[in-house]
This record gives sequence, C-alpha cells and structure tokens, in this order.
Amino acid sequence: MGRTFTYETYKVSELFEFMRTVILRLGHRVQRDQRITTHVALTARALGAEGMLLDSDDSGIEKSINEVTQRWGGSFYVRRITNWKNEIRNWKESGGKVLHLTMYGVNLPDIINEVVTENLLIVVGAEKVPPELYGLADWNVAVGNQPHSEVAALALVLDRLATYSGIEPLKTQFGGGEVEIVPNRRGKEVREK
Ligand code: SAM
Repeated sequence: MGRTFTYETYKVSELFEFMRTVILRLGHRVQRDQRITTHVALTARALGAEGMLLDSDDSGIEKSINEVTQRWGGSFYVRRITNWKNEIRNWKESGGKVLHLTMYGVNLPDIINEVVTENLLIVVGAEKVPPELYGLADWNVAVGNQPHSEVAALALVLDRLATYSGIEPLKTQFGGGEVEIVPNRRGKEVREK
C-alpha cells in the first residue's frame, strides 16, 4: 500500500529513505547518444535517483553532469563501468533488485505493487539490449507497450514509484550547489545560495 500523498518538500536524502535508486545505462554510442544519455542522467538526478552507471568509456557525460551537480546541488554521480553483468550480479548479491525498462515488459500499472525493494537498479537501453538482460532482471517493465523514449520511460517510472509511496519527487530539494531557482509565474529568477 502506498503512503498518504502530500505536497511536502523532500530532500534527496529523504527520497532515498523510501527507495535508493541507481540507473544503469546500456548501449550508449559515443557519437549518437551523447545528448540523450545526458538527458537520462539529468532526469534521473532531478527525480531523486542516486547516480548512473554508464556502460561506456565516454567521459563527456560524467563531466557535464558533474558541472550540473556542482552548480545545482545534490550528490548525483555518473560512474563509467566496463562489465554491466558484473554490476548487476554485485547489485543482486548485496540484496538489491533490478528493473529493466522495455516496451516488451509487463505494463507498469499492472506490476507497480510488486516493485518493493530498498535498493533498485533501473536499466535503460539505447540500442537493442543484450537478450540475457531479460533473464537477469527481476522485473521487465513497460511504460505503456508502445515504443517511445528512455527519458520518458525513466521519468514516468521514477515519478510513479515515488508517488505510489506518497512522495512527491518534483518537490525534491537539493543541498549544496551554488544557485537555486525561485519559481516565478513570469520571467526567470535564480539566486545564489
Ligand atoms: N530499439 C531498441 C530495442 O528494440 O530494444 C529500443 C530503443 S528505445 C528508444 C531505448 C530504450 O528506451 C529501451 O531500451 C527502453 O529502456 C526504453 N523504452 C522505450 N520505450 C519504452 C517503453 N514503452 N517502456 C519502457 N521502456 C521503454
């Protein structure tokens, strides 16, 4: 059962109290996917994930996300990895669960009540993912059984998981950083912290 829904603000650390979430980005192609992989990381960070494991030696993503974290706060990280299967194995051996986002999976509304864990690794692909991933994952989950985007799928699953537990992820506050936005009906207001 989800907790009661409120519009409190949450610190990133409080979001982690309900579920620690890390993203595993597979199949990143250095030339082609730089922008979308950056958007995967930005979306994960904005919606309270802890960090992203990147199955690539592309250092550009790490650099641009570190710049965002330095300016806008929080402790989101990007870690380049070389062996995604080992990462999944280690994650599971330490008690975590793995949710693979795929349009071929069980539709999210039909499975969300089963996704119960303190440590969740969410896998998103770029190009076609290795078939064995379907067997390694605890849940193969579709965000609607239609093709769309890893950014949209990730945003929706992070939002649905949080709100199912009574957390409003769009109210997350990020500690540290240099600046913050003052929400404004017109114009832009950014203040130094
Ligand atoms: N053509 C690739 C394939 O056949 O696996 C998929 C490309 S798709 C743009 C990239 C990623 O977006 C997928 O690996 C998956 O993680 C995610 N994705 C796209 N549509 C999805 C959906 N309806 N539900 C869940 N994830 C989805």
